[in-house]
Amino acid sequence: MARAELMDYDKALELFEPVIGLEVHVELNTTTKMFSPAPNPANSAFHGAEPNTLVTPVCLGLPGSLPVVNGAAVRSSISLGLALGCTIAESSRFARKNYFYPDLAKNYQISQYDEPIAYEGSVEVELANGRVFQVPIERAHMEEDAGKLTHVGGSTGRIQGAEYSLVDYNRAGVPLVEIVTKPIFGAEADAPELAKAYVSTIRDIALSLGISEARMERGNLRCDANVSLRPRGTEPLGTRTETKNVNSFRSIERAVRYEIQRQAAILAKGGTITQETRHWHEDTGTTSPGRPKSDADDYRYFPEPDLLPVEPSRELIEELRAVLPEPPAARRRRLKGEWGFTDLEFQDVVNGGLLVEVTLTVAAGATPAAARKWWTGELTRLANAGQTDAASLATPEQVAELAALVGEGVLTDRLARQVLEGVVAGEGSPREIVEARGLAVVSDDGALVAAIDEALASQPDVLAKIRDGKVQAAGAVIGAVMKAMHGKADAARVRELVLERAQG
Ligand code: ADP
Ligand code: MG
Repeated sequence: MARAELMDYDKALELFEPVIGLEVHVELNTTTKMFSPAPNPANSAFHGAEPNTLVTPVCLGLPGSLPVVNGAAVRSSISLGLALGCTIAESSRFARKNYFYPDLAKNYQISQYDEPIAYEGSVEVELANGRVFQVPIERAHMEEDAGKLTHVGGSTGRIQGAEYSLVDYNRAGVPLVEIVTKPIFGAEADAPELAKAYVSTIRDIALSLGISEARMERGNLRCDANVSLRPRGTEPLGTRTETKNVNSFRSIERAVRYEIQRQAAILAKGGTITQETRHWHEDTGTTSPGRPKSDADDYRYFPEPDLLPVEPSRELIEELRAVLPEPPAARRRRLKGEWGFTDLEFQDVVNGGLLVEVTLTVAAGATPAAARKWWTGELTRLANAGQTDAASLATPEQVAELAALVGEGVLTDRLARQVLEGVVAGEGSPREIVEARGLAVVSDDGALVAAIDEALASQPDVLAKIRDGKVQAAGAVIGAVMKAMHGKADAARVRELVLERAQG
């Protein structure tokens, strides 16, 4: 595929104003699905189940099967709507969105259309440079997820070029909330970062409510990014493209930036933008055309005749409002103080989308400093190398365990980094990896003393210098001992022992 022409980013911003709109799908972690008692694979307890094992007749749209609304999913949706500052509808309705696709057995998706459960809200989002945005929310509505297709035989995993496709209906009927923003103006050059920070804030909200596992790499959180440009000084909105299912925070930022540069190049030449969905390609950092975007009319939405309207009582709404967690922006301010981080340290955590990870790692017993260090240091480095998010590489419990092992003196930082590589490779918990890879520090002084005596004996000149008080000469011996121990010794302890033995 020919690479699209891109305009220089600053130049694009000079000529055009970017307008973005974000659609985020949040998979709820309820025990069962949206309209059936089938186990929900978006709940960690059922994640990774064999294909087509989490299905009921409702998931397959079999004749005679009828949907029943999951009350827990409704409560989660109301909580989410409230956390987004939305009004909760006194009465909201489900609607059928009709289209044919093999992963949607009924040939329609039960969604909400003109009567969503929540509407008109606002979310505070803070950028690295300190700018604070109120992102306007249009609506949040409940719907069901479709199944999953796997296209086999082609080189790209896409349907084009595939020999056959497999359908897994486990995901069919997973409860979703789709959160749609109004068009967002005024972000200017920060638009790509705002898109990323917004999705990261939605993730924080979902996690603090406990309503979703919110793991992007598992598709628990999916973002479609709409981007349009309008020439400076003009009023009407430009034609938008919708880049689908970008599955990491860094890709959201890159995809929005790419679309701004691509559209600017076309518009500057007098061309027009086609209203369409586009696919993001992580490997090349580009987007390619998907399908022309249907208008809502094409879906033949109509009220779902098998379900009653959802009419939550005022008491229920107030009960859920009363237990809402702190809003993300306020929580950030509080945590920064509690953790005692500098502005820069705290920004590192926030920019990496790691606020929740650090919070949970501290809750699992690590010190704030250690939690921050591992998440923004080694894990971020590994994430960048693998073009993914640090949050997808390890769990807070694993990082807390790693920090504990360092604290107990079982691991040096260097060994801990090796253990972390094992964690990322899925070799197990840090303790299991220390065991399996034999990585624990040699804390047995006997073994160290033997190696030290040997090193001192083979370097009599060094020994003489140390005895003369030239303590810095000990470095050579420490180096030899660390080498003999394959790096699995605590250098400070070795140094102590070297000085002791040299005097002895
Ligand atoms: P669709 O059915 O196409 O997904 P939605 O209403 O669900 O439509 O979402 C469209 C998203 O695009 C919303 O976030 C909306 O604010 C945004 N949007 C609409 N028009 C524009 C535009 N011209 N430029 C950028 N974003 C837009
Ligand atoms: Mg949409």
